[in-house]
Amino acid sequence: MTGLGGPSDSPGLGGEPRIQRLDEITIRLIAAGEVVERPASVVKELVENALDARARVLTVGIEDGGLSRIEVADDGTGIPRDDLPLLFQRHATSKLRSGAGLPVVTTLGFRGEALASIASVSRVRLTTCTPGEAHGYAVTVDAGSPAAIGSAARAPGTTVEVRDLFYRTPARRKFLRTPASEGLRILQMLQRVYLAHPGIDLTFVQDGEVRFRLPPLPDLPAAAREVFPDALGEGAFPFQGSGGPGLWIEGVASPPSFSRGNADGIVLLVNGRPFSSRSLQEGIRYAYRELLPRGRYPVVVAHLRADPSRVDVNVHPTKREVRFEDEAALRDALQHLLHGALRDQPRTSGLSQGASGPLPFVLPEPSGDLSRARGAPLPLPLSLGGTAIPRDLAHYTGEISPGRDPSRGATLPATGVHPALRLLGEVGRLYLVAEALEPPGSLVLVDAHAASERIVYERVKQEDPPAHQELLVPRDLALTPVQAAAWEVHGEALSRLGFRVEPFGKGIWRVRSLPSFRGRVARPETLGPLLEELAAGNQGAPQEALTERLAKSVACHLAIRGGDVLSLEEMERLLRELYACAESFTCPHGRPIMVTVPRSRLDRWFHRP
Ligand code: ADP
Ligand code: MG
Repeated sequence: MTGLGGPSDSPGLGGEPRIQRLDEITIRLIAAGEVVERPASVVKELVENALDARARVLTVGIEDGGLSRIEVADDGTGIPRDDLPLLFQRHATSKLRSGAGLPVVTTLGFRGEALASIASVSRVRLTTCTPGEAHGYAVTVDAGSPAAIGSAARAPGTTVEVRDLFYRTPARRKFLRTPASEGLRILQMLQRVYLAHPGIDLTFVQDGEVRFRLPPLPDLPAAAREVFPDALGEGAFPFQGSGGPGLWIEGVASPPSFSRGNADGIVLLVNGRPFSSRSLQEGIRYAYRELLPRGRYPVVVAHLRADPSRVDVNVHPTKREVRFEDEAALRDALQHLLHGALRDQPRTSGLSQGASGPLPFVLPEPSGDLSRARGAPLPLPLSLGGTAIPRDLAHYTGEISPGRDPSRGATLPATGVHPALRLLGEVGRLYLVAEALEPPGSLVLVDAHAASERIVYERVKQEDPPAHQELLVPRDLALTPVQAAAWEVHGEALSRLGFRVEPFGKGIWRVRSLPSFRGRVARPETLGPLLEELAAGNQGAPQEALTERLAKSVACHLAIRGGDVLSLEEMERLLRELYACAESFTCPHGRPIMVTVPRSRLDRWFHRP
């Protein structure tokens, strides 16, 4: 069948094309589209096969983000000679005999589709040997052509090598990100597989370099500490309990003193299989609701041991999602379990206890984030007093006119959207306090962090990068494999923003310069969390969203923090620059920057007519 059905190639009645059966190669290509979305899906299927074959030692190698080469080697059971002709056929599996077995399937694979799909969009060479045999075999398939089988030397186990992925489907290639970005996805996926199987010995090699080796460990908490050393080291705690009939939950969670800016540290596993679930993730977040500031997430790895008949894994071609009998009940159970375990943790952080006594009058709370003001530890602190010279804001045209009481502050003239303001001072080392002259006598509160975040954000987005500051003494930092991989993806953009960082070998990176803004220099330690945030954005977001995300993260790291001491001049400049921003009422994360209490409201509070 060719073309889109012009009269010449559609001899059917009324000019409509006739129904025909697709040829086998086309059928395979279509089916492969579902299973093999990108290099990470290939690696996932191959690693699952190795685990199903009871492998203990796995080595995964990729080149060029997996596009030119992927290799997964295992020490599993191998494949018997007689099974080899069936290997790359669709719906050929050793793991399921009939539909009756589906509800109780305990292997990771069962559809018999992965190898066939992978082979239809690449060139595959598989070598395998079963323990009893004197030698092994090699099977090669090129884009779905019939398999060629020969002898090969091989210790017991299986190696699958996939070359030139998608060479026949260039459309799919176009949807892929850069090799570095695909490599990062693979790395993150492998870490999840390891968390689901802490007993394995897993090595990941990218372009000839060992990215990580995760050793066999006795239990989930130990393995989780290996993957999330910062979050699940000291202070982390295990939890376990029933998740409903036929469901047992066990996991490990970060202490309330820890948080990160994205949900990538929430890992859900069921019977050795990573999966995603919005509602369970929400349940976990909810357990921390009183402990973490808004927009911050814990790191939690939860493994559900389920009676196979209670969970349906056959709802998604790549088994990314699974279905539970009663997911709402499971979510509640998970949340209560975690909440209970959290309550029993010693509180060292002073979080949520820092509120300073009852106030005589409580104002109706604006929707802003007040937790920072209560002395919550600031996730990514910045140092004050760097030596970078503040740059003037080119597009500011206004002037500060003297206030009615010059000793107490200056007046900011009105602009198109803003009223004139007379700055009075600051409360709680975070909120600027001002009087608005329109409507007269209104009280205005400005969140200094949010305001400065907005200012830096707009700068960065307009490709007017912040200044950078060379470190007199370069700082050596250990980056996790995810962070290092994220640097490969975003390093260039980050360098433009003032981060100069060089690999120094063995997971150590040397920081030579850092962005600075208005004399505030980002701290070297911000690099790791920043990279983690960017790694979290690696999943699926379009390029533009990534650029925006980068701007947001950098802005957040360079913004004024609650607790920073500001001079009156700095406060004035902050307001002035805020007035010049294209959008000045919400910060890049959508929180309000400014709250106005009209004079009439003040009067009402004091029972004035
Ligand atoms: P599925 O895993 O759903 O059965 P696959 O296409 O992934 O389907 O694999 C087909 C069959 O090939 C498996 O059922 C298994 O018998 C065999 N196989 C694949 N990879 C390996 C491996 N690494 N070790 C042993 N057997 C394997
Ligand atoms: Mg499989």
